[in-house]
Amino acid sequence: MPSAVGDADVIIVGGGIAGLGAGVRLKDRGLEPLVLEAEARLGGRMTTDRVNGFVIDRGVTLFGNGFASMRALVRRLELSPLVRAGKFGVGIQDSAGCRGYRGGRFEDLLLDRGISLRARIACLRFGWDLLCHHRALRHGHSDLSSALDNEDSQTYFRRIGGEELFERVFRPGLNGPMGGSMGTSSRVIPMQVVWNLLVRGQWNLTDGVDRIPETAAAQVQVLTGARVLHVEQREDGAQVEAEIQGKPRSFRTQAVIFATPGQHVPVLCPGLPPDMRETLSRTQYSRIANVAVALSKPPNTPYAGYAFTQDVVPGAEIEMEHLRAPNRCPEGTGMASVFLWNTPEKLRLDARDESLKQQAAAIVEQNFPECHGKVLFVHLIRWNIGIAQFPPGRLREMTALRKQLALWKSPFDLCGDYLDGLSSEGALKTGEEAAERTARKLKTR
Ligand SMILES: Cc1cc2nc3c(=O)[nH]c(=O)nc-3n(C[C@H](O)[C@H](O)[C@H](O)COP(=O)(O)OP(=O)(O)OC[C@H]3O[C@@H](n4cnc5c(N)ncnc54)[C@H](O)[C@@H]3O)c2cc1C
Repeated sequence: MPSAVGDADVIIVGGGIAGLGAGVRLKDRGLEPLVLEAEARLGGRMTTDRVNGFVIDRGVTLFGNGFASMRALVRRLELSPLVRAGKFGVGIQDSAGCRGYRGGRFEDLLLDRGISLRARIACLRFGWDLLCHHRALRHGHSDLSSALDNEDSQTYFRRIGGEELFERVFRPGLNGPMGGSMGTSSRVIPMQVVWNLLVRGQWNLTDGVDRIPETAAAQVQVLTGARVLHVEQREDGAQVEAEIQGKPRSFRTQAVIFATPGQHVPVLCPGLPPDMRETLSRTQYSRIANVAVALSKPPNTPYAGYAFTQDVVPGAEIEMEHLRAPNRCPEGTGMASVFLWNTPEKLRLDARDESLKQQAAAIVEQNFPECHGKVLFVHLIRWNIGIAQFPPGRLREMTALRKQLALWKSPFDLCGDYLDGLSSEGALKTGEEAAERTARKLKTR
């Protein structure tokens, strides 16, 4: 029989940035949270591997200057000395060659003679839309962008006369951050990514992004290797059944915050209202692999990222780890992270590990001939739950769900990127919101 333990004011299921952000906020509100994380380490998709002196961010790689909650958490955790401003330029390769665009420099697109005048006029229209709606485009505030969540990106660009702009710039440039779904995503998603990461600029941490979740985890009670199996409402709160290092254990608590991918929540908690179960079970993520190719000499490149049109290299994008922040690679070396996803023409992710590593090394060597024979090792990270997917209408559904959560008289609450729009900032913001609602509920009981 599992032992019953009355352990914490609030149990948080999932130790990604949403769950840990909720934990820190509850602690600040005078409550004792306990985070249960299924994996051996914390951070979820915000983790970092350290291999042979190379610092490899596994999932989250970039923070935007508009990530106000993340910056506030970094200050709260006293990590500000590690913050460095980042510069991001992207080179886009198509059959005509490579064109480069610097982050925050819209004029690079407007003055680019490699694309047609019509494409540049569409670019002006896109820029105008960004300016008009920028308040609604901040990550973490997707509940303000419902009015824009009415068409997919491809239809939107066609409507503003930007078919070429879409095919030659935005689809290749943004497909990676969207897990390959640029065409079918709500137009809000690329608008958010462009506004938050490319127009407003970026920052990063010298030591790897995992310093944020690791430092947050040091401030709250956490159990790793603790997979939650079942959660049930009780008269005085909730009961949580978990398996900890393979052994069953029961917890009693006043409230539970689910900080797992949305589709897991109805499975863990069958007692949720039917409409909420149905909405959550439709949460989708695209799969993606991050294959880090360590190089004995960095490539000669002015850009921190490279993207490709479908006819050149389908389903791939490159980011330079050594240009992301100082101290990421040993002196004199470099690292190119190749992000790979499935396309209708190429089902890359179904390949075996060795094949994926070879594909990534080949893409790097093909793109940077000077790196031929300079590969030191290749480190593969696969994400089966990768990038949250937002076809048109999904953000509106999530806004309705967030409103429902604000009025919900239940010991349960929810957070995670799927509620806001694919970013770590959205995940954190929803975690902090869930913590505030839970703290209010417990205080008024
Ligand atoms: C390749 C890649 C690149 C990305 N790049 C960026 C970027 O540059 N910038 C950016 O802002 N965002 C980026 N993202 C998105 C970002 O990683 C996520 O939005 C964010 O980390 C999600 O945090 P979360 O806490 O909602 O979910 P997660 O990090 O997935 O955390 C959920 C946690 O719940 C745990 N869990 C699940 N089930 C259970 C259970 N039954 N019991 C206990 N624990 C459980 C999981 O193990 C996991 O740790 C990227 C994502 C990927 C995959």
